[in-house]
Amino acid sequence: MELMFAKPEVETPSGLKASAVSTRAFKGSSFKAILPKLYTSPFEIIFCPDTKQSMYCQILFGLIQRNEVIMIGSIFASTVVRSIKFLENNWKELCSNIKTGQISEWITDSGYRNAASLILKPNPELADLIEDPKTKYIGTVCTGAMLQYTAELEFYCGGLPLVLGFYACSEGAIGINLEPLCKPSDVSYTFLPNMVYYEFLSIKEDCDTDSQNQVQLNLGQCYEVLVTSSMGLYRYKVGDIIKVTGFHNNTPQFQFVGRQNVALGVDMERTSEADILKAVAEAKALLDPLGLILTEYTSYGDTSSTPGHYVIFWEIKPKEGNNNNNNGKELDPKVMEECCSKMEDSLHFTYRMYRKENMIAALEIRVVKQGTFESLLDYFVSKGASLSQYKTPICIKSKEALNILDSRVIAKFFSPRTPTQDN
Ligand code: AMP
Repeated sequence: MELMFAKPEVETPSGLKASAVSTRAFKGSSFKAILPKLYTSPFEIIFCPDTKQSMYCQILFGLIQRNEVIMIGSIFASTVVRSIKFLENNWKELCSNIKTGQISEWITDSGYRNAASLILKPNPELADLIEDPKTKYIGTVCTGAMLQYTAELEFYCGGLPLVLGFYACSEGAIGINLEPLCKPSDVSYTFLPNMVYYEFLSIKEDCDTDSQNQVQLNLGQCYEVLVTSSMGLYRYKVGDIIKVTGFHNNTPQFQFVGRQNVALGVDMERTSEADILKAVAEAKALLDPLGLILTEYTSYGDTSSTPGHYVIFWEIKPKEGNNNNNNGKELDPKVMEECCSKMEDSLHFTYRMYRKENMIAALEIRVVKQGTFESLLDYFVSKGASLSQYKTPICIKSKEALNILDSRVIAKFFSPRTPTQDN
């Protein structure tokens, strides 16, 4: 059961057709031929412009064919989490569709209704069985920017392993994971040497790219990836930084470190996506003893006052069995302020120096209502993002997106002290 969402092609000003790589793959004739043999979702539904109807139908088709489902997945973890939440909110209606053999009235697309009529027959036994799935594992990417979904996925998986199969991007299929059952935090990918032609730029300590080409890859070193491909890319910077973790025969293996692009900036200070990922990973550990999980986050450089400061938006939910319903008041301000300080302590030397000299003000965490990041996703999808390839931006640049977050803030916390200098 693979959740797939194609986006319509767009035309560039020069008249070239452009589309998300997943859409191109879904359109291929070989995909159409294997689809009914390997997947639960019918072709029409993958190409539905209405993502809500598509999600509903893909889950319905998965449930109907549940006896054959041994894997549930999507390209990125965010889509898997979204589909689980969708199921959480709609399972009664889905079960009633299965019981009666009638698809809900609000599914209006005639293509789906036809596809559904072929497979949907009244089946009360199945509706009753749905609480006992046979799924053996969840297959999705949850390294890099997707690491933030791991805690929530593990919460929903109830012990099922998370399997991270590959490392791919629109520029090419880059690597595979040779040990699919290892923990997400330990996953290394092995380059696929025959997919594209790779070159690597070494990364200096301060995350600047060394303009000298490095031919040999050294263990423990970080590199930026360049690809030359038969699709027409020439020495193209994918934008990812990887760290070499080993070799499989002579093929390098790597972990994803972050994106090369600068995520945040206030004044002259620059903080990369990798810095934010690391700082959030350290701070969110403080939520664990409170029985809370950080489900999503993003960041923003607020320069509306001087000096500017970094704002990190957090969506938090209680762990199973915890009655803390996160309406903002229950959050312990001491712990939340400590989360702010923890983030500052784990940011890089320049950030901490700027803070000490008051060229950047205290880091702020704004806690948002549950469901906020889903509204953010809806906004980006409405602006043309592909749901299959959607990744929550680590840093918000758009005013509308910022308004979506700001209008749902339930609590604000600031770092109470300047960060420590010694890490
Ligand atoms: P896109 O081309 O929009 O599908 O995005 C591809 C990007 O997603 C890559 O350049 C990486 O930054 C990220 N990505 C893809 N696969 C992985 C992975 N296995 N682990 C971490 N990040 C990944």
